[in-house]
Amino acid sequence: MVTIDIKLKPCPFCGAFLKNEAPSTIWCHPQNSCLLSLRGIVGADQIAQWNTRYDAKGKKVLDND
Ligand SMILES: [Zn+2]
Repeated sequence: MVTIDIKLKPCPFCGAFLKNEAPSTIWCHPQNSCLLSLRGIVGADQIAQWNTRYDAKGKKVLDND
């Protein structure tokens, strides 16, 4: 079994970090007043989507690292 070091960006709305409780593969937004409260994401595609951000002009923000 391969362990993948997954780095998720904080929520763009409230700054919260999604939590994953092994062995679950679901990354869940903590419960708070955020519109994404308790929203879960699963799999590499959704994680990549979560980590994709755009600036105020709609331009994709690229990671520097
Ligand atoms: Zn949030």
